[in-house]
Formats: sequence, structure tokens, C-alpha cells
Amino acid sequence: MASGDFVILRSPSAMRDFSLSLKVAGRVLVLVPTMGFLHAGHLSLLRVASEAGDEIIVSIYVNRAQFSAGEDFEIYPRDLACDLEILRNCGVRISAVYVPEDNFMYGSNFGTEISVPDLGGRLCGKSRVNYFGGVALVVAKLFHQTLVEVAVFGEKDYQQLAIIRRLVLDLDFGVEVLSAPIFRGDGGLALSSRNSYLSSASLVVASLLYEILCECGRLIVLGGDVCEILSDGRKKLLAGGFCRVDYLSLVYGWDLLEVDEYDTHNDVGGYRLLGAVYLDEVRLIDNIGLANLL
Ligand code: AMP
Repeated sequence: MASGDFVILRSPSAMRDFSLSLKVAGRVLVLVPTMGFLHAGHLSLLRVASEAGDEIIVSIYVNRAQFSAGEDFEIYPRDLACDLEILRNCGVRISAVYVPEDNFMYGSNFGTEISVPDLGGRLCGKSRVNYFGGVALVVAKLFHQTLVEVAVFGEKDYQQLAIIRRLVLDLDFGVEVLSAPIFRGDGGLALSSRNSYLSSASLVVASLLYEILCECGRLIVLGGDVCEILSDGRKKLLAGGFCRVDYLSLVYGWDLLEVDEYDTHNDVGGYRLLGAVYLDEVRLIDNIGLANLL
């Protein structure tokens, strides 16, 4: 199969039949789930996927279950033709693009929820109440539909990654979850489909999030008072032009529990500084690992 030669599948049964035919041939299947409007950050996940198995499946689905009333589900950017063109030319061999239709994903009698109250109730979960339950639900469905052995997610959505790892362990999915580092553009801004909502002036402000995360992170690893540093960081974000700071928090390890002390000797990659801010009604998130700053 040439690099742009993938099949496009639109129903769970077509997806499952395709995967089964590859699995009986002993192929290892890797899923890269996305909501489309693809950018270089998504493509960086494909490169991780290509090292992890034989056949890459990219899903494109804007999952209504993870949006609350008043969020941007209706206006979330969508451009399937452009996404397919990007995938055809991305230089990674993709076997299938799975674009499930809404009625197959959530039929009129759909009545199941997945809740991850512990990990999902913190950080982004405090202000986005349906978010992680909806993410867990769609990821569970995609795993069942695609029958993959491996799935790749971005560290850009760090809390999501932790929740998916929890989901996979708790519900015995037997899927290996791999992560890819955050892909950043000019000025350090983490690429995101939602950046398309921002004007060029706002994009300049947006890149301050990464700058201030790094500044706070450096002060923390140098031994400064965590609470003071984070409080100053929130003020700097507001002074820099963000309309609201949802949170700026230091957490540790898999549990995402907020901590107010940093122990250099204990940092084996566990401490993470995460931020969520609003700019022109657009919610932006980013995070950094503190071990990288040591
Ligand atoms: P989305 O389409 O925004 O739902 O993202 C699909 C996947 O791509 C998720 O696993 C994200 O964490 C990942 N992703 C999005 N933006 C980036 C980025 N800038 N760098 C790395 N991964 C990303």
C-alpha cells in the first residue's frame, strides 16, 4: 500500500471487519484518535504510531459527549477533505481513516455513561463537567470498534492521558497507551485545533502561557516557594492579556494531585506544571514536565 492509499471507513462494523482481517494476518494495529482539523501536533502522534505497530488507523470524530451545553461543539472547526489531504501527504503510511457517523456512535437510545470521578474531577474537570466522562466513553467505544493493540495520545492533553491510562487498567482493555510530547509552534505555543479561533494578536498573547509555565517551572526547580511562584504566575498571565486563569497548578505523578512543595531529588519525571486560561472566550491548556528543566 502506498503512503496515501488508505481506506475510509464510516461504520463500526466496517471498522471491525477491516481490523479483524489484519489481525488474523498477525498485524499489530495502532490507533491515533483525533477530532480532526489536523495540524502538525497530530502528525507527530503518527510518527510515534509508525514505530509502534504495523497498521495505523486514524480516527476523526468530534465527540459531542465531551462537550457541555454552551461549549463549542457546534462551531468546533471541521474540514474532512483537508484532513484527508493532509493524511495522504504526511509521509507516514496510514491503513485506514475511521470517520464514524454520529448515529453509529450515539444512537437515539444511547444510555451508558463512564465516570472517572477521581482523576476526572480535578483541574480541567472542575470547570468542564462532562468532559472526561465523554472522553472515556468515546475512547472505550473506539477501542472496541478498532480492536487495536496500541493507541497514541498527546501530552498536550496531560490529564486526558492519565485518565485514559486509568480507564485501560480499570476496564482491562489490554491496549498499550503511548504518549507523544507536545508539538509547539513559533514562540512555543502548543499547536491546537482551537488556535484557529484566535486572531493574530491573540496568538501572540497565547504563546505567553508556555513562557510563563517555563518561568514558573524554572523558579520551582531552583527551590522557590511553590505557592508564591504560582500566585505570581497567575498575576502575570492576567497582566499578559489572558481574560481568566482557570488554574495554574503543580501536580505529581499519575494521581494529578496538586502539591505545594517540589522535591528535586524525587523528580524522576513525575512533577508536571499545568495551566488552563481563557483568551477571547477560547480555553487554552498547556503543561510542562519539571524534570526537563533540571
Ligand atoms: P484533538 O484532535 O484535539 O482531540 O487531539 C487528538 C490527539 O492529538 C490528542 O491525543 C491530543 O493530545 C493530541 N494533540 C493535540 N495537539 C497536540 C500537540 N500540539 N502536540 C502533541 N499532541 C497533540
